[in-house]
Amino acid sequence: MKNYDVVIIGAGAAGLTAAATATARGRRVAVLDMGDAPARKVQASGGGRCNFTNMAATRDRYFGANPDFVRGALARVTPADILQWAQGHDLEWQEKAAGQFFCKSGAGPVVGALLQDAAGARIITGCTVTGATYQSNRFIIKSNIGDFSADSLVIATGGMSFATLGVSDIGYKIAKSFGHKIIPIRPALCAIDIPAFPREWAGISVGAQITVKERKITGDMLFTHFGIGGPAVYSASIAPSDCDIKINLMPGIDVNDWLRQAKRSAGRKALSTVLGERLPNQIAKYFGGPARNIADFRDSELADVAARITDITLHAGTWHHHGMAAAEVTFGGVDTADISSKTMESKIQPGLFFAGEVMDITGDLGGFNLHWAWASGHVAGDNA
Ligand SMILES: Cc1cc2nc3c(=O)[nH]c(=O)nc-3n(C[C@H](O)[C@H](O)[C@H](O)COP(=O)(O)OP(=O)(O)OC[C@H]3O[C@@H](n4cnc5c(N)ncnc54)[C@H](O)[C@@H]3O)c2cc1C
Repeated sequence: MKNYDVVIIGAGAAGLTAAATATARGRRVAVLDMGDAPARKVQASGGGRCNFTNMAATRDRYFGANPDFVRGALARVTPADILQWAQGHDLEWQEKAAGQFFCKSGAGPVVGALLQDAAGARIITGCTVTGATYQSNRFIIKSNIGDFSADSLVIATGGMSFATLGVSDIGYKIAKSFGHKIIPIRPALCAIDIPAFPREWAGISVGAQITVKERKITGDMLFTHFGIGGPAVYSASIAPSDCDIKINLMPGIDVNDWLRQAKRSAGRKALSTVLGERLPNQIAKYFGGPARNIADFRDSELADVAARITDITLHAGTWHHHGMAAAEVTFGGVDTADISSKTMESKIQPGLFFAGEVMDITGDLGGFNLHWAWASGHVAGDNA
């Protein structure tokens, strides 16, 4: 049996951050990971360019049974702290959208920086944890390569999405065995299956506004052969499938008013030609119908066309999350009700800590999930 002060299960963003913080406090730390390399999700993040933080990382961008839980960790580790950390590692960044930071030289250097910070810990790859118990004041962690013991145990096993990068439900199982409740999991930050749109639209991208559960999300939406995807849809997919989704394909303008004006100023243009000024051709033709001058449309007909473009409703029950396999994150996880937001320690089992996506906290698209992994990992490592 190998003995440590702290054993961390999972060498992802949260586990490595916890390892760096705990070793900085002089703790003897082992990080166990079943993969052949650490931080595989960080490596794949942001399309390989790692969207590592977002200046808007506040409670409002996090979801779960109790999003207030994030407040303490986000106050401890701010986006400015992460930029300072990146600067300290000579990582150059690019602000793609306002406040959304990607690593200019790709995700690899971010992984390098994490490993450099965690160099004081023993990182053991190819180590699949199968369970953990608490006996005689120590945690006993079972794995395919033998047992480990520790004063403190940090569960940083991530979620169940994107299984090709290596996932397991051991974090939930261990949490459950200590009496923690698991909020049912499902995919999030993913595409949506919906048969509502013509299949020929697959591959077309539009700027859209999506309204779901009082959230208004404006951004690119991509039609696919099974439904819709793209950034705006990924963000909307945080919502459960028991609610309606509303889509406006021409946000930011009064379409009815614009069409009436066009009827007066360009009456001899076909409606589909007019719509084509603001919509991709195929979509414009679909809503414009057979070639017919806009002047020949009654105002009420134009109002109908405007409504069909701006007020599309995907009713609850007709759409579904596209699946765990390609989802960026897992919604649900270990219920935060039994975890201290100040320390990330279990309120049920002293010495047991949680970090990152394994908990019931889901961040919005845009760097919020990695920010949560850094922040919660830091707090866990500071207390484990
Ligand atoms: C394709 C993709 C792109 C993404 N892009 C971004 C982005 O740009 N910005 C952003 O903020 N978020 C992004 N995310 C989400 C983000 O990567 C995750 O939320 C984050 O990595 C979670 O960190 P974590 O440390 O909690 O879990 P993980 O990074 O998933 O780490 C968990 C670790 O636990 C290990 N593990 C699991 N079970 C066991 C076991 N039984 N024994 C031993 N080890 C085990 C796994 O091997 C893994 O290394 C992306 C996700 C995906 C899938």
